[in-house]
Amino acid sequence: MKAKILDGKKTAQDIRNEIKAEVDQLRSRGLRPPHLVAILVGDNPASHTYVRGKMRACAEVGFDSTNKHLPASTTEQELLGWVKTYNEDPLVDGILVQMPLPEHIVPQNITKTIVPHKDADGFHPLNVGLMTLNFPGILSATPAGIMELIDRYEIPTKGKHVVIAGRSRIVGRPISILMSRGGQPGEATVTICHRYTPPELLKQMCLQADIVIVAVGKPGLITADMIKEDAVVIDVGINRIEAPEKKSGYRLVGDVDFDAVAEKASYITPVPGGVGPMTVAMLLSNTLHSYKRSHG
Ligand code: ADP
Repeated sequence: MKAKILDGKKTAQDIRNEIKAEVDQLRSRGLRPPHLVAILVGDNPASHTYVRGKMRACAEVGFDSTNKHLPASTTEQELLGWVKTYNEDPLVDGILVQMPLPEHIVPQNITKTIVPHKDADGFHPLNVGLMTLNFPGILSATPAGIMELIDRYEIPTKGKHVVIAGRSRIVGRPISILMSRGGQPGEATVTICHRYTPPELLKQMCLQADIVIVAVGKPGLITADMIKEDAVVIDVGINRIEAPEKKSGYRLVGDVDFDAVAEKASYITPVPGGVGPMTVAMLLSNTLHSYKRSHG
């Protein structure tokens, strides 16, 4: 394999160690640790796995955590009630509501109700606005994780062409802003492709890219013939595909045809073990920042 691995698993471990050292300091000064609340509605198995992982990460760094599991029949009003309870609780520093929510709940109504300074995922419109204007605020966790990974591997972005596939509120859109705004990483020329980008145009754009970031949710979308020699490839896709040989019955793949693309790229993120663990590390980091802010 030619490409170097952008090891999100290891980098996230480094970040968790740094956070743990800060939490140990707080404890030694007699202060309470930061506290993250995750609210999970319903029984989506992938969501359960994600929330369990987030709770495990909290335990590892010494955070307090609460896993609030609500039935799928929870109404929007009831869920908003829980969010408001945690908003007002001075012993809670970070709140996240695991997506996707059941169909009868409008996710934007929940996102905008979380008080912005406890918005661990960084999805609140105020935080997205602050990010867009390059003001200090909480960054969306997955885009922040990608920026952190690129930063720690010292991958240059200034003046580079970054092509993003996907324009979702939580990944594609915010990463496009972070990559084009001032700062390092940043200062890139950015192209966003989405569901209405004709496949031929997506290929043309990717072939021009120094950095390709893919957040679509389609296994095999990005193939080696779409990638320039020595490009950096960041795969945000997490797709479950059937694998009868596995005990779980499935395995995880990204949106990139990993084996073939890794023969052309200079750097590539694996799935799993790339962007996923970085997202969780940034959740912890956002919660720690909220804590520090409220403790002066
Ligand atoms: P995530 O939460 O991982 O960002 P979403 O499912 O919310 O993913 O969004 C998927 C995104 O992928 C959408 O913005 C959609 O426009 C984009 N998309 C869908 N098909 C294609 C495609 N063929 N090429 C590029 N982007 C696509």
